[in-house]
Amino acid sequence: MPGMLYLVPTPIGNLGDISARCRQTFAQADFIAAEDTRVTLKLLNYLELKKPLVSYYEHNKAESGPRIVSRILDGETCVLVSDAGSPAISDPGEDLVRLCAEAGIPVCAIPGPCALVTALSASALPTGRFCFEGFLSINKKSRQAHLTSLKNEQRTMIFYEAPHKLLATLNDFAQAFGPGRKITLCRELTKLHEEYYRTTLGEAVTHYTETPPRGEFVLVLAGAEEVPDEAPTMEQAVALVQAKLSDGLSKKDAVKLVAKETGLAKNALYEAVLQAER
Ligand code: SAM
Repeated sequence: MPGMLYLVPTPIGNLGDISARCRQTFAQADFIAAEDTRVTLKLLNYLELKKPLVSYYEHNKAESGPRIVSRILDGETCVLVSDAGSPAISDPGEDLVRLCAEAGIPVCAIPGPCALVTALSASALPTGRFCFEGFLSINKKSRQAHLTSLKNEQRTMIFYEAPHKLLATLNDFAQAFGPGRKITLCRELTKLHEEYYRTTLGEAVTHYTETPPRGEFVLVLAGAEEVPDEAPTMEQAVALVQAKLSDGLSKKDAVKLVAKETGLAKNALYEAVLQAER
């Protein structure tokens, strides 16, 4: 019987956010796979727990991942944690979850702290539809392609960003989405200096040019306004009139109706319909 992989979310600042279920899952695990074992050791000390730790992070995941999978297949129970927040969201945990799923290992995700959900909830921007965009690439070409793909995105967008890259990202945002676009910069969530700065891209650029950014940030960006339907061409409007004529409407009524629907001038449309019949 294979064991199990548990995904345990850990506090993104406030240690009080660790849940009773997370504590119990740590206590029952055979071992813990951690992004940074020193960070996780501090949490285990806080919880007064002792557990074997193995390291699993971006630069050793290719070797460490299969070793963890093999231990779970032998019947051990593993808890995966990242440095903070929900494992597998913008961190290498994503690959371990895939490996386990492919090996037929059951994966159980425990709900808890997640920077993007915390930020979105209090952003005061629409939460009904949103998309998580993770970190922007530092490669100029793929970064530009990513931003271009979001040009007409109407859902609220969420990004992670490091403080030393924040100003460059805000400048790129202002260029791509315009300085008037609303943004909520969510800083140091659940920590002493927690802040929600609800502003526009232009103002955010000015602010962080004057005051260098510090701490961790989630950026919640408003979606684009609804793109108005393009006005139909005269040719398309004539086709609409012709469809109404074959439905039995008189020319006068059909033109009147289509002119109203499309916003085109009635006389010009009538003339175009006559032209098409010649
Ligand atoms: N898996 C984690 C999650 O989704 O909760 C996030 C891991 S990702 C490597 C780290 C990024 O999360 C940071 O660069 C920052 O954008 C965001 N973040 C984490 N903790 C935060 C906090 N307390 N306040 C604001 N942003 C935070």
